[in-house]
Amino acid sequence: MRFVDSHLHLDGDDADATLRFAASAGALLFACGVDRRTSEALSKRAEASHDVVAPFVGVHPSEAEKEGDPAWLEGATARASGVGEIGLDPTYSPAGDDGAQMRVFRRQLEVAGRLGKPVQVHSRGAEARCLEVLAEYKVPGVLMHWLESEEALPAAMERGYFVSLGPALLYSKRLQRIAAGADPSLILLESDSPVPYAPIGGVRGPMLIPSVAFRLSEARGEPFEEVLTRCNLNALRFLGRKG
Ligand SMILES: [Zn+2]
Repeated sequence: MRFVDSHLHLDGDDADATLRFAASAGALLFACGVDRRTSEALSKRAEASHDVVAPFVGVHPSEAEKEGDPAWLEGATARASGVGEIGLDPTYSPAGDDGAQMRVFRRQLEVAGRLGKPVQVHSRGAEARCLEVLAEYKVPGVLMHWLESEEALPAAMERGYFVSLGPALLYSKRLQRIAAGADPSLILLESDSPVPYAPIGGVRGPMLIPSVAFRLSEARGEPFEEVLTRCNLNALRFLGRKG
């Protein structure tokens, strides 16, 4: 394993190419579903390439209203590496206590806790509320994916939650401050593929991970190799693997 992409999706039209790249580059992909269809498809893909893909199944906040009551989740979670991408995001639909987002988020945290699986959390615009809700559940690992809130960072670090930095680190001053201020033993790297990054020419995919590691080494004033190796070990610790 040369590097880990700790958060991405394999439901885009370039998923096959991404998998081929990962296999040839020696990358390990922590891939997430966003609903039942993508979670089940991902589980199938992971069966065929389990040395490359660690599958996370779940309902993204954008799909919570459509999914309703995800009864399929329990069985899918038992067979997966973890639960994700789950969380709260008021951009998509109401994220308050009485809404579908909160109900589905809580249901998934309960299943993850009971089955002992790590979770990948999307918290855009609801970082503080996500942290409050997470505190009510015992899950073996939490990744606050693409955390952009400098206010939420200290609490996340204090609880030993991981944060993942992606290609936006190449140009975002705020993410560079988060990179410099986060506990180095809790930082992971992600591409969030197939998200394209306009400021760097619309490039996307796990091939960006070494560039993110390079920018991280610059932000922290630490050698590139050391940063990449540490992020790999952090990622395996999040997954519950030794290395
Ligand atoms: Zn994502």
